[in-house]
Amino acid sequence: MTAFATLPLSDKLLANLDSLGYREMTEIQAQSLPSIMEGRDLIAQAKTGSGKTAAFGIGLLCNLNTAWFAVQGLVLCPTRELADQVAGELRRLARCVPNVKVVVLTGGSPMRPQIASLEFGAHIVVGTPGRVRDHLSRESLDLSNVRMLVLDEADRMTDMGFYDEIAGIVRACPKRRQTLLFSATYPDDIRQATEAFLYDPVEVTVEAQH
Ligand code: ADP
Ligand code: MG
Repeated sequence: MTAFATLPLSDKLLANLDSLGYREMTEIQAQSLPSIMEGRDLIAQAKTGSGKTAAFGIGLLCNLNTAWFAVQGLVLCPTRELADQVAGELRRLARCVPNVKVVVLTGGSPMRPQIASLEFGAHIVVGTPGRVRDHLSRESLDLSNVRMLVLDEADRMTDMGFYDEIAGIVRACPKRRQTLLFSATYPDDIRQATEAFLYDPVEVTVEAQH
C-alpha cells in the first residue's frame, strides 16, 4: 500500500483526500498517478470499482488553472449515469480547490441550461460523446484549451458505437495535450481503434484479484 502523501500533491488536496477516507492509493492509482503527474499519456486497465475516477480526477485537478475560465479538462463517459457519477467524484475531490466548475454535458437533458453553464464558465467538462459533439457543432463548446482528455470506460464507449463521435471530439482538442484512457478491458480491436488518440502511452494493468 502506498500513501497519497508520497505524491507531489498540495497539503490541501491531501487533507481533502483524507477527509474522503482516501488514505492509501488503490493499486491502479499507485500505478498510474506518477505517470499522469509527469504528463505522460496513459492506458490504464483495471476492473470496475478499483478507483479509476480518482486516478484521473487528481491528475485533472493538479493541472487546472482555476483563475482562467476555459475548459482545460474533458472527460468522456459512455452513459449519463456514469458522467454524473464522475462529476460527483470530481466535485468531491475539488472541495479543497476554490471555485472549480465542473459541467456535465449528457443527452436527455435540455441543451439550453448546458449552454448557459458553459457561457458562465467551466474548467472541466464531463460528458457523453453524442452530446459533446452536439455542443461542438453548435459552437457552444470550445475545446481549444483542453490540456487533459480522459476517455473513461473506453471499452464500453467503443462497444456502444461512439467511435466516430470520439474521433471528432479528439480532432477538436489541441494536438498537444495529455490523453488518458481508462478501461476495464482492452482487447485488440479497441487498442487499434484508440491508438491514434494517444502519444507514446504508458500502459498499466491491474489484474483482477482472485
Ligand atoms: P472505477 O472507476 O475503477 O470503477 P471508482 O472510481 O468508481 O472505480 O471508485 C470505486 C470506489 O472506490 C468509490 O466509492 C470511491 O469513492 C472509492 N475509492 C477510490 N479511491 C479510493 C481510495 N484511495 N481509498 C478508498 N476508497 C477509494
Ligand atoms: Mg469508472
